[in-house]
Amino acid sequence: MTTTNQPEVTLLLIEDSPDDAAMIREVLKESPRFRSSVEHVFRLEKGIERLTEGGIDVVLLDFSLPDSFGIDTFRRLHHAHPEIPVIVLTSLDDDQLALQAVSEGAQDYLVKKDLEQRLLTRSIRYAIERNRAEQQLLHNAFHDALTGLANRALFGDRLDMAMAGARRRPTGQFAVLFFDLDRFKNINDSLGHNVGDQLLVALARRLETIIRPGDTVARIGGDEFAVLVNDMDDVADAIQVAERILEGFKAPFPIESNEVFVSASIGIAVHNQDTTDPDAMLRDADIAMYRAKASGKARYEIFDPEMHASAVALLKIETELRKAVDRSEFIMHYQPIVALKEPKILGFEGLVRWQHPERGMVAPAGFITVAEETGLIVPLGWWVMEQSCRQIREWQLRFPMNPPLFISVNVSGRIFVDNQVVEGILDILGRTGLPPESLRLEVTENVILEHSEEVMTKMQQLRAMGVQLSIDDFGTGYSSLSYLQRFQYDTLKIDRSFISGMQVGTDSQAIVETILALASTLGIGVIAEGIETVEQMVRLRDLDCPQGQGFWFARPADPMMIEAMLSGDSPTSISSRMMAN
Ligand code: C2E
Ligand code: MG
Ligand code: MG
Repeated sequence: MTTTNQPEVTLLLIEDSPDDAAMIREVLKESPRFRSSVEHVFRLEKGIERLTEGGIDVVLLDFSLPDSFGIDTFRRLHHAHPEIPVIVLTSLDDDQLALQAVSEGAQDYLVKKDLEQRLLTRSIRYAIERNRAEQQLLHNAFHDALTGLANRALFGDRLDMAMAGARRRPTGQFAVLFFDLDRFKNINDSLGHNVGDQLLVALARRLETIIRPGDTVARIGGDEFAVLVNDMDDVADAIQVAERILEGFKAPFPIESNEVFVSASIGIAVHNQDTTDPDAMLRDADIAMYRAKASGKARYEIFDPEMHASAVALLKIETELRKAVDRSEFIMHYQPIVALKEPKILGFEGLVRWQHPERGMVAPAGFITVAEETGLIVPLGWWVMEQSCRQIREWQLRFPMNPPLFISVNVSGRIFVDNQVVEGILDILGRTGLPPESLRLEVTENVILEHSEEVMTKMQQLRAMGVQLSIDDFGTGYSSLSYLQRFQYDTLKIDRSFISGMQVGTDSQAIVETILALASTLGIGVIAEGIETVEQMVRLRDLDCPQGQGFWFARPADPMMIEAMLSGDSPTSISSRMMAN
């Protein structure tokens, strides 16, 4: 405590003797480094009333008052205001009574006739410090240390209160918003945890300006936050808060020398009278949040009970998927990639299938997302990689061509988070004997955006060793043509939505032409995906699109059928069909 920064302490003196009161004021004045203001009342009831108004730091309490006497005086005051530190003043020199008060919660006791300045100010200071310490502990128990926001415990408490309130007064609606940040992990990975922490703090401050005064915002964990929206007229109020949060995150957060952009996906659960469990409400909001993420992020979704059913179904798939990895229930199908000019098969895309014991053959749409979310995509991805490389090497030896057949493998961005990914792929190439030039990795545009420079570096390392990189579903993601130049790709695959929409004069036709022109300038190969009709094939060939893939040539098929195709035993061989057109 320094002289320039003295605390202003407000004391309430409850004392019926004017002489004693004057004496205490005198003693306090003597203190050179202790600035206090003293309010004085004569009766206990007045004192209790005054405390209710707030602003008092410490009470100095005389034991014998006109309206109360002895230990009772302390008990009544302490009962009414347990949060206020009390120093008991006694003229009786009755240690027993004073000790009793201390054991019941008084901070200290002082005997009036021995009162001197140092003793009194020290006692007051201790009272305030102890109090402060208790408040700090209480604060810590209910607040998040990093951001200072309410924590999960306090949020649960407030939610409990809101539920209890709703039982008494069923008109008062409220809702829980639950959100986490999209791609926060990437920020942490690429800019460091320190920046991540600063971002969370900056975000908390911004959130406080966004939410309404009566609402509670809490940090629930890592990058997860929740808002309790109270006193709603209807669900529109909660939506408005969600929209304000989404809007509020649009401006970047300046952190150190970076401008960090974040977005959030928000789930909203509106209270209904059947819900009495705060955790269930948070869980519902969490489920809705997942839905918001799955449907494109940076948006909100409102929980409905159907979501719960589908979350349960997802959980079932997850459980089954875990077993499927162990039980080797996966098989590979291969779809030919064809040169449009010469008619011939150049290579294959490997497409995984799940042979489900009850549901039969399940296409990737039924499990890839779950596999991504649960991380199962990583062991599955390695299995696909090894299987595909082994298969194509076998075919290269049985069906020699110039250049040799290649295999295109879909890889999830998650596999690149593995530190050993480069070594792992080289290992597989070594084990199977496949030349690196015969392996293509297909990644979607989103992988490029969602992953850090580190991931990009690994991809480029692989590329330097001869492995080819391909952008899948080009045109559907955050497609930015500049990425093509920045990260060097060998091929891009035009998404099949453009191919199916391609009639003369349509936007799709123009987009396909633009992509082809750009790719040819950059020296990148192009594969048109999803060619289903002869017209599409002919049009693409006329536009000089070099390669294509689609049902019109061949559906993805098991290795036996592919072998029939390669050995020319297939009744409708690809080249004969193309020659006819
Ligand atoms: P993709 O990489 O774009 O694969 C092409 C998808 O289009 C395949 O669906 C294929 O069967 C389908 N397709 C091919 N030609 C045509 C056509 O002419 N018309 C139509 N309507 N569809 C056509 P599939 O096998 O269901 O795979 C769907 C997606 O699942 C793939 O899209 C890919 O993103 C993902 N996937 C498949 N296998 C794997 C894998 O092993 N690992 C990972 N990470 N993802 C995979
Ligand atoms: Mg693909
Ligand atoms: Mg594709």
